[in-house]
Amino acid sequence: MIRVTIYNEFVHERTEEKVREVYPDGIHMALKSFLEDGDVVVDTVTLDTVNELTEEKLKDTDVLVWWGHMAHNKVPDEVAEHVKEAVQRGMGAIFLHSGHESKPFKKLMGTPCNLTWREDGDYERVWTVNPAHPIAQGIGRFIYLEHEETYGEPFGIPEPDETVFIGGYEGGEVFRSGVCYRRGCGRIFYFQPGHESFPTYKNADVQRVIKNAVCWAAPIYRVENLNCPHVQKP
Ligand code: ZN
Repeated sequence: MIRVTIYNEFVHERTEEKVREVYPDGIHMALKSFLEDGDVVVDTVTLDTVNELTEEKLKDTDVLVWWGHMAHNKVPDEVAEHVKEAVQRGMGAIFLHSGHESKPFKKLMGTPCNLTWREDGDYERVWTVNPAHPIAQGIGRFIYLEHEETYGEPFGIPEPDETVFIGGYEGGEVFRSGVCYRRGCGRIFYFQPGHESFPTYKNADVQRVIKNAVCWAAPIYRVENLNCPHVQKP
């Protein structure tokens, strides 16, 4: 059983009609609807309830999924710190789309995580560059998205441990769309598709990638303390 907690700030869906039309119950409920099955249980948290992301809650979370965009700064610093430490202890984390600029992602990366962007409804092909990776299983040469926000390089991330997908757009831009990291005992996957006004999370291949990523990021080993214990000679 994998215990997933989804954080979605849930602001666009309540303030913009065109986003509400795509995700009437919020992006978190759209993600939950395909992630939850007999092997995965899902809890959801929004900006209104973000203080529920305590150390204890994160200890009971195997994989945290994060979607945020316009309210990154409203997430308390201590929540971001708890997320960072939970990952270092072994929790998995998946940051989606504009989560590249979230506090916990930037803390875990240690770099600006900035990028270039355009929002004009161009298509994207998300190319599988590592078909042997667990996260790419079931995905063909590429995922075709009729409309997606264009994210372009340079992407201010550290050199990924593994690159699974590279996005290519109508304008010719490319972007490292699916990248993996290890921080401490925890695994992190960043996945670029998922602009709020397009139905990206209803695409079966995108759903498959996120499901695969949840399985890949689930903890293998968790450590209680991150301090330096003084020990006796064996
Ligand atoms: Zn976006």
